[in-house]
Amino acid sequence: MTEVNINHPTRYWHKLENGKVQCDVCPRLCTLEEGQRGLCFVRARENDQIVLTTYGRSSGFCIDPIEKKPLNHFLPGTPVLSFGTAGCNLTCKFCQNWDMSKSREMDTLQQAASPAQLAEAAVQTGCRSVAYTYNDPTIFLEYAVDTAIACRERGIKSVAVTAGYIEPEPRAEFFHHMDAANVDLKAFTERFYWKLTGAHLQAVLETLEYIHHETNTWLELTTLLIPGENDSAAEIEAMTQWVMEHLGPDVPMHFSAFHPDWKMRDTPPTPPATLVMARDIARKNGIRHAYTGNVHNTEGDTTFCHQCGETLIVRDWYNIVRWNMAAKGTCPTCGASCAGVFEDAPGAWGARRLPIRIA
Ligand code: SF4
Repeated sequence: MTEVNINHPTRYWHKLENGKVQCDVCPRLCTLEEGQRGLCFVRARENDQIVLTTYGRSSGFCIDPIEKKPLNHFLPGTPVLSFGTAGCNLTCKFCQNWDMSKSREMDTLQQAASPAQLAEAAVQTGCRSVAYTYNDPTIFLEYAVDTAIACRERGIKSVAVTAGYIEPEPRAEFFHHMDAANVDLKAFTERFYWKLTGAHLQAVLETLEYIHHETNTWLELTTLLIPGENDSAAEIEAMTQWVMEHLGPDVPMHFSAFHPDWKMRDTPPTPPATLVMARDIARKNGIRHAYTGNVHNTEGDTTFCHQCGETLIVRDWYNIVRWNMAAKGTCPTCGASCAGVFEDAPGAWGARRLPIRIA
């Protein structure tokens, strides 16, 4: 069993001829001198190796509804034990969790838990899964993977909430251990990715194809629609056509509302009509399950049968208010199977958010 250990050794790096050490976890490929940290701030060169400085540490633990990740087709209604650490490998100017992701202060990480303690806490609190979220688990891969292994041994599933900006080799290890993922497809232009996140679109698209075609990880996508940046009908057309062509109709898409934050406080919040427009375009292009997020919109929160149009799950934000699925996620009217991970009945966690302490 791996216990809490600050400055944990890591595997994905190599030495360069010029004496620097390159981190090979994400496409940034930071090259570090002794004592330096990467852009994510949590991977550092120490004794000629790259170490993870946040292993076993967290900014806090919270039980959330699975719908908050957001995942609408993965064990609906169940509680998920969620945690994050500090730092991030993207530099999103619109970050909605900037207190954690931009943290350069390790005192953000006041709580600690080993992988085994996390799995035990999930069992004790009745959670069906653990989510690596709030900041991107790519940068704390070793902690997330060890926790996922400990969880799987206890019958607890693992959920990644990520931007998908990760190199192929660590990606294969990481998603091998993830049962579900919500990946941010932040936009569909390289201009947006480079200007507002410091990352590149193509690497994210490759991750999406990899997850969907090469793993057993259940995949949903989220796009935060930011007025004037990524919310044009043309961009949503192109994005949803790409999803149809490369991932098929069954990967749910969530279009969620931006609120002014971090370095984009002068940008207005997303009008609800923009979310509706995006959902309509996705459905027109063949996406079977397109949702609106961060707003009250019953139609946009509802799961419909793709075959006959029957209403299957009605939600109000994170609450399930009506369940109309037959066994194992099938339509009670026509018998079509709804893509996802469903049980015969939903969980009853509701919309609660419950911070907890571990150990
Ligand atoms: S994970 Fe961190 S240190 Fe490694 S390449 Fe990405 S930003 Fe740089």
